[in-house]
Amino acid sequence: MRYAAQKGTRDILPEEIYKWHKAEKMFADVCHSFGFEEIRIPTFEQTDLFQRGVGDTTDVVTKEMYTFDDKGGRSITLRPEGTAGVVRSYIENGMSSLPSPVRLFYNITAFRYEKMQKGRYREFHQFGLEAFGATGPSIDAEIISVVDVFFKRMGLANIKLCINSIGCPECRKQYNELLKDYFRPHIDTMCEDCKARFERNPLRMIDCKIDGPKEVVQNAPRLINHLCDECRAHFEGLKSELDALDIKYEIDPNIVRGLDYYTRTVFEFVSENVGSQGTICGGGRYDGLVGLMDGPATPGIGFAMGVERFLLEAEAQGIDLGKPQYVKVYFAAMSDEGKNKAMKICHDLRLAGIGCEQDVADRSFRAQMKYAGKQGIPYLVVLGDDELASGIVKVKCMEDGQETEVKIDDLKTFLEGK
Ligand code: ATP
Ligand code: MG
Repeated sequence: MRYAAQKGTRDILPEEIYKWHKAEKMFADVCHSFGFEEIRIPTFEQTDLFQRGVGDTTDVVTKEMYTFDDKGGRSITLRPEGTAGVVRSYIENGMSSLPSPVRLFYNITAFRYEKMQKGRYREFHQFGLEAFGATGPSIDAEIISVVDVFFKRMGLANIKLCINSIGCPECRKQYNELLKDYFRPHIDTMCEDCKARFERNPLRMIDCKIDGPKEVVQNAPRLINHLCDECRAHFEGLKSELDALDIKYEIDPNIVRGLDYYTRTVFEFVSENVGSQGTICGGGRYDGLVGLMDGPATPGIGFAMGVERFLLEAEAQGIDLGKPQYVKVYFAAMSDEGKNKAMKICHDLRLAGIGCEQDVADRSFRAQMKYAGKQGIPYLVVLGDDELASGIVKVKCMEDGQETEVKIDDLKTFLEGK
């Protein structure tokens, strides 16, 4: 039997991994430049953490989680996102006693049982961050500018930032009543999910993706027009901070985000290129979440970016992520003695961090030369009897054919500058 990767999972092969390395390193560099530090959290948690933390009316929790009982009879879930786990860790490790804001970033796999599409997988990757302890709106603007700086340093352009505010529990309570009054006469025409949302979480009815009565959803009152004074001031503050940073945005009153825990600021970075899976990054403020998880009441804000979608976008924009050539030099040997010498030279060069290869497959001299050419290794050294006797080799640059005589003992210094 030949096995195949599971539906919705994929191998990331050597021919594309360099793109991932580049994005991962840049994301870490950008986060570090803002004072964020990396956190690594477990791949699975107890199911209840996500039910409570993500919200048990969300699609993620009701339809998309990989949940199973382990051999000890515990209900376990593969993380569908990072925030709940980071919040758990923040509380468990007493991070609220650290100077605030506590700034954490992560690079994780996430798992959702979804219908496979371009940019939508069952195992996917997220770059994300969370900042705890600041009420904003400066921190809101700061985390948005992390994404802005990341995109710009990666060379991406034209990704639309959409922002919205979904208020606090106070203004949402009043608004939910307003929304229910609005939807009540139409409820029979709405989808099954929306019928359930009507009682439990009417705000999410305006995020309905089912082809239903679009005008009804479109014309529903929007929370952004019904914010309390404090939430309105917070949103105005965010807008002026973004203006000051010259970060362009649109206000999109339709963004409510898929996860339940958001308050006030919500935002998305949307591409024109990735088709219907256009949201590359989404985030928002969750002032109630740490308290909801039985931690000390602490404001928080964060985002998560889909790495697959980011890379699809980079490709669509024609960005060259430059494949690195790790092996700089190949040592082709004409005899067993030459091969032994090559092995020792390579060992010494690798100790100095210089990438090199020699034959390990009993290839003939000709086959060694062919291999080095195919691999695109930029420098070639031939070890024949003369070279072994004199301790001097010719380093050939494959691009221009130029040869330089170098003492074997000086190879490290010579190659370091290449
Ligand atoms: P969507 O509306 O596309 O389902 P979402 O609102 O469920 O997205 P979030 O929970 O906000 O997504 O996750 C943050 C980001 O992670 C998304 O903007 C997207 O880039 C990425 N993402 C979410 N689900 C998937 C998936 N199944 N496959 C690949 N990337 C995903
Ligand atoms: Mg989703």
